[in-house]
Amino acid sequence: MNHIPQLKTSVLQRFSFIFYHTRGLCNSGQALVADNIILSTRHFIRFLHKYCYMADATATADRALQYIGSFKKIVGDGFVFADAESLNNYAHDETENLHFLPGLVIKPRTVGEVSAIMKICNEQHIPVTPRGAGTGLSGGALPQFGGVLLSTERMNSILDIDERNLQVTTEPGVITEVLQNAVKEKGLFYPPDPSSRGSCFIGGNIAENSGGPKAVKYGVVKDYVLNLEVVLPTGDIIWTGANVLKNSTGYNLTQLIVGSEGTLGIVTKIVLKLLPFPKYDLLMLVPFNSLEKAGEAVSAIFRAGFTPSAMELVEINALKIVSKFVDSAVVPVTDEMEAHLIIEVDGNHIDTLMSEMEAISELLTKYDCGDVFFADDAQQKAELWKLRRRVAEAVKINGYTIEEDTVVPRAELPALIRGVKQLGKEYNFDVVCYGHAGDGNLHIRIKKEGSVYSLNNPEVIPALRALFELVKKLGGTISGEHGIGLIQKEYMDIVFDEAQMKLMKGIKKTFDPNNILNSGKIFD
Ligand SMILES: Cc1cc2nc3c(=O)[nH]c(=O)nc-3n(C[C@H](O)[C@H](O)[C@H](O)COP(=O)(O)OP(=O)(O)OC[C@H]3O[C@@H](n4cnc5c(N)ncnc54)[C@H](O)[C@@H]3O)c2cc1C
Repeated sequence: MNHIPQLKTSVLQRFSFIFYHTRGLCNSGQALVADNIILSTRHFIRFLHKYCYMADATATADRALQYIGSFKKIVGDGFVFADAESLNNYAHDETENLHFLPGLVIKPRTVGEVSAIMKICNEQHIPVTPRGAGTGLSGGALPQFGGVLLSTERMNSILDIDERNLQVTTEPGVITEVLQNAVKEKGLFYPPDPSSRGSCFIGGNIAENSGGPKAVKYGVVKDYVLNLEVVLPTGDIIWTGANVLKNSTGYNLTQLIVGSEGTLGIVTKIVLKLLPFPKYDLLMLVPFNSLEKAGEAVSAIFRAGFTPSAMELVEINALKIVSKFVDSAVVPVTDEMEAHLIIEVDGNHIDTLMSEMEAISELLTKYDCGDVFFADDAQQKAELWKLRRRVAEAVKINGYTIEEDTVVPRAELPALIRGVKQLGKEYNFDVVCYGHAGDGNLHIRIKKEGSVYSLNNPEVIPALRALFELVKKLGGTISGEHGIGLIQKEYMDIVFDEAQMKLMKGIKKTFDPNNILNSGKIFD
């Protein structure tokens, strides 16, 4: 593989390091001048960088094309694509305006086919990018070096629902909601529910260690994965563990693969733990006069001994935008209310849930809240959830660009909200917040008139850096559930030191000695 892009990236990293450390020594006037000079230079290096990527991608696309006959023999003629339309369809995901063309798109059906493809790619040093449904928000499925885009969409069977052991075995290309509904028919529950669950794949969820509203009570994907079948970059096939609830046998390869963003192996089968489906749930929407007070109320609820099954925060601008977007009048939106919390409790005893909801509402009166709206029936609940699940889409269409995925310890949420608003003023951005408040996981979107976000936008990078430094100061980190992928690696130095990065890079090298699998994601 051509290593020019990696070299350029290492120049960029050194540059960033020197910049941010010397800048700290300047007074504010000097710092401003330094910012401008250094950001222009940085922009220029990134410009070069982009063209090196393009040259590299062209070379690897050509190399992938040389083996098109071999790939067709493996998966069949109808499942290898090199036409412009197909390549374009897989050149982007949900990460803003990024676009990288693959050389070939291959859609294998079986683990044997994935293994045979990987053997050729490993021998020939052809880059491979695994892809689920392409709903990722950090650019993980973008084929930045061209080569082979390996889509898991045909690996879409639920193989076994084991009602005796409360487990399900599935292929990676199953849509998350389809899986949830299939186990629900048997009275079983797979809780992790990213807001994209109607379109994302379970394999993508494993690769990102996804969360969602229910994580606050039930945990995220990692808490349900028992065992994985994985094709390594060399083409070897392994199982990572055993289908058991406890396992202290050797290193935990299962959890190493979870959240590895398709950089260590391709997940081809998944064994998940299930729970019995809770019989009842209750849902309410609570308006707050102040966004910060809403943040304070979140941790107060947990301190008082309640564990809601969802606790979502939506700031007023976002709520107004999404209400209009989905044409819903279910929520009475008034400007005095700065934020709303959506609170759900679930369980098997309706009386207990009713009294929990009453006690929570009583507690919230101490936090300057308005009239509580209880969703009376299934339709109102569905309406409320629709509002929450479609916020990201609605604000994006309204010009709020990339979704930052900050996470802090829950009690630091008010400080994060305060800091975010302050940074918005400092950098002249309009900022909107929403997210999984119960987990301290706040999604932040920014909008600036006349500026379109791009990976290299010199106006945006310093603002995001300041945001992530704040998050780190509050004891948090830069991604709670969307992963690092392509777009957040620029900021990894804020949360990891050299020793930590060296360890991670060492792990990558052990799994992928030729650096062919989703390279350039998480780090260079
Ligand atoms: C509107 C919207 C709402 C969202 N809400 C949430 C949310 O609430 N919580 C949340 O966590 N995320 C959310 N997301 C982000 C996204 O849906 C998740 O990250 C999801 O898990 C991605 O799944 P995917 O199948 O689309 O994966 P892709 O985007 O195709 O890929 C994501 C990463 O996984 C890797 N990958 C995919 N399949 C495999 C495999 N079989 N083996 C190895 N690697 C693989 C890819 O290489 C890539 O690095 C949201 C996205 C959108 C657009």
